[in-house]
Amino acid sequence: MATTPQAVIDDRGAPSATQEKARRHLWMHFTRMGGYDERHEIPMIVKGEGSYVWDEHGTRYLDGLSALFCVNAGHGRAELGEAAARQAKELGFYTNWSYAHPVAAELAARIANLAPGDLNRVFFTSGGSEAVESAWKLSRQYHKLTGNPLKTKIISRETAYHGTTFGALSITGITPLRTPFEPLVPGAHHAPNTNDYRWAEDRDPLWAADQIEHVIEFQGPESVAAVILEPVQNSGGCFVPQDGYWQRVREICDRHNVLLIADEVICSWGRLGHYFGVDRFGVVPDMITTAKGLTSAYAAMGGVIVSDRVADPFMADTNTFTHGITFGGHPISAAIAMANLDIFEREDLCGHVLAKEPEFRGMLDKLKEDLPIVGDVRGAGYFHALELVKDKETKESFSDEESEDLLRGFMSGELYKRGLICRADDRGDPVIQLSPPLIADTEEFELIDNVLRSVLTEAWERIVRH
Ligand code: PLP
Repeated sequence: MATTPQAVIDDRGAPSATQEKARRHLWMHFTRMGGYDERHEIPMIVKGEGSYVWDEHGTRYLDGLSALFCVNAGHGRAELGEAAARQAKELGFYTNWSYAHPVAAELAARIANLAPGDLNRVFFTSGGSEAVESAWKLSRQYHKLTGNPLKTKIISRETAYHGTTFGALSITGITPLRTPFEPLVPGAHHAPNTNDYRWAEDRDPLWAADQIEHVIEFQGPESVAAVILEPVQNSGGCFVPQDGYWQRVREICDRHNVLLIADEVICSWGRLGHYFGVDRFGVVPDMITTAKGLTSAYAAMGGVIVSDRVADPFMADTNTFTHGITFGGHPISAAIAMANLDIFEREDLCGHVLAKEPEFRGMLDKLKEDLPIVGDVRGAGYFHALELVKDKETKESFSDEESEDLLRGFMSGELYKRGLICRADDRGDPVIQLSPPLIADTEEFELIDNVLRSVLTEAWERIVRH
């Protein structure tokens, strides 16, 4: 198991000056920089419009991943830049440390209005890891303020990705991402995820939910502050919860006075066809962490949306959440988020995702029906994964070596060459992940179908040959 494979493009002629600068000076994230040289280019994306982006050679790609699950409203939305310019003229920056500014207040009120239940208070951050980090710190301080100072631990799920800063990384459940940095922050523990494709058929459907209670009891409920889960778990390939899973976890958390945090860095802002992923599953958490699609990624912004019950102790007397980030609530990011939400409302992007989801899903189900390499299709809204297997009947998966050859050696580069950006991932069993902009429609589904069908067919021929 490794991190996400990257596309390395062979022989496109003489490298451009920007290629050379990138190779020499830019440190790309989660990237094997040594894989690029004179003959193997870095994909250089220079322009975007709607669901598509273009590279420096003028080649067009369908952005089947919304960059990184985040350009939800699609590329080329000049009005988001115009909103930023208006705000820059008015007030380019002021901080949220002891000061407010109108656009952060307007945005907080708008988010509170859209969020479920009594989640009415927003603590802004610059991104998703900081939101997760802040939510853990907030749960610890909440319990201290309410007379339970020993409640410090947090429980997340195996294979889940929650970010890379030390607290968030400790919560992340992906071993190869954790080991280079150990020892991590003490107090983060992991429970099984909801990957029922790999369960025995007669297993109780709420087994994974009950496993969370098992971990709470094993750790000692008096020491557990919070449980953090994504509505649909990204890493491992869009694991959806079983019916009733979230309700059972909510009951468990209430029983043990443990806060329930929905990590919606991906699942909020229409990705599952609702403003918040938890709305799809009918549950109200105590906090939601968000980022990415809040601004459709036109500016860096995240936040923790907190229930009145959890926020109230911090609002009393001289109490303070002793935590802050310079750029939290940045006015330009907030102005972009407001304009982004205007687009969501005007174009009913959530409604579009719900209306088109059956067609998107139907196309993927057909790939599974037709192709021997596709073992499972799962996900919700515009957030789906195909799991690749060696044998559909037995669900036999690929060894680490085979997976390296299949994903890195063949598929990542091949999908890109044929005009589709999506994720070929092996942070669990090998999967292809799709998360197109929320404006994607039949034309884009057809393109995804064509490219995946040809690349997966060739991948299967390679496997049979070997
Ligand atoms: N939480 C989840 C569920 C995520 O998917 C991510 C990023 O993909 C993060 C947290 C971290 O967000 P960021 O990369 O903005 O720090």
